[in-house]
Amino acid sequence: MQILENEPMSKHTSFKVGGPARYFVKAECIDDLKEAAALASEKGLPRFILGNGTNLLVSDKGFEGVVITLAGEFSEIQDIGNGAFKAGAAVPLGRFARTTLKQGYAGIHKLAGIPGTLGGAIYMNAGAYGQEIGTHCTQVITLDAGGNTHEYSKEACTFGYRKSAFQNACASGNQAEPGQVIVSATFQLESGNTAGESPEQTVARLEAELQECMAKRKASQPLNMPNAGSTFKRLERGSADMPQQVAPGYYIEQAGLKGYRIGGAEVSTLHANFIVNAGSATARDILDLSDYVKAIVAKKIGIELQREIVLLGKF
Ligand SMILES: Cc1cc2nc3c(=O)[nH]c(=O)nc-3n(C[C@H](O)[C@H](O)[C@H](O)COP(=O)(O)OP(=O)(O)OC[C@H]3O[C@@H](n4cnc5c(N)ncnc54)[C@H](O)[C@@H]3O)c2cc1C
Repeated sequence: MQILENEPMSKHTSFKVGGPARYFVKAECIDDLKEAAALASEKGLPRFILGNGTNLLVSDKGFEGVVITLAGEFSEIQDIGNGAFKAGAAVPLGRFARTTLKQGYAGIHKLAGIPGTLGGAIYMNAGAYGQEIGTHCTQVITLDAGGNTHEYSKEACTFGYRKSAFQNACASGNQAEPGQVIVSATFQLESGNTAGESPEQTVARLEAELQECMAKRKASQPLNMPNAGSTFKRLERGSADMPQQVAPGYYIEQAGLKGYRIGGAEVSTLHANFIVNAGSATARDILDLSDYVKAIVAKKIGIELQREIVLLGKF
């Protein structure tokens, strides 16, 4: 297993910011994960599991710990048959969604534009355009710091809006971490076929649905600038009978913050819930800007925004 020292995290995050990780390891098999846990324990350091770094803000001071990224056997997709698939945590969500789509299965095909890994998607319960990764997930397997395997049934995953049991159970960069790593997940998908369609027509229709979502993304998100997706979670509104989710971007725009800058960080002029690195942002700029947006929206609109992006390291 390759162990890098003082690896710049700016190379591994979609914001393109972040100082060095004291140790950075690529685990290709279960034995590597055990070795990485042993390294952290020997050095008395916390661990952090990195997916594709697309929902992550790492401090400019870096992370005094062991960052573990998955590859090798964790990048495999297994077709179990009849719409059941098992995939490793390092599989890019886009690859997984497209693999299932090409076989005519529906349910996660609209998630193909989310740039993270399957592990990161399960941890966040990532979702878009009415689909969420947790909906069709039937089992998740994790490994703890002692090398023991844990099996989570769908119920035990307690998926909710951008929530899962893994946000409490996984190695998160804290000294007091419980320390599990998501290694794989199993899904049961439904056939996308509707009466009268040939299999080829089903695949073409699902692909057209995906392309429609991709076009919406391209039109509404600043994809040409470094960012980490939505800064804040959607807001739960309405009543128990008529629950409603409201996009934070609406309030951020109402508060007059579109285009507002701190240092090199900017509230996107295209999508107010995205913060972009306009070229020379530091992690501090990005955090200060998100704190400022939260404070101004609270003051002007009376709404408490909740951060979606994960923070790593001391700010
Ligand atoms: C342009 C853009 C568009 C986006 N659009 C969407 C969208 O439509 N919907 C959406 O939900 N999100 C979106 N995101 C955010 C992001 O892509 C998702 O949250 C994604 O699921 C994060 O996956 P990741 O692999 O990059 O995780 P990371 O950012 O690397 O990590 C996120 C968290 O997951 C944990 N984690 C990752 N892998 C594991 C593992 N194997 N075991 C344990 N913990 C793990 C990390 O420790 C961290 O706490 C977008 C981001 C960008 C940049």
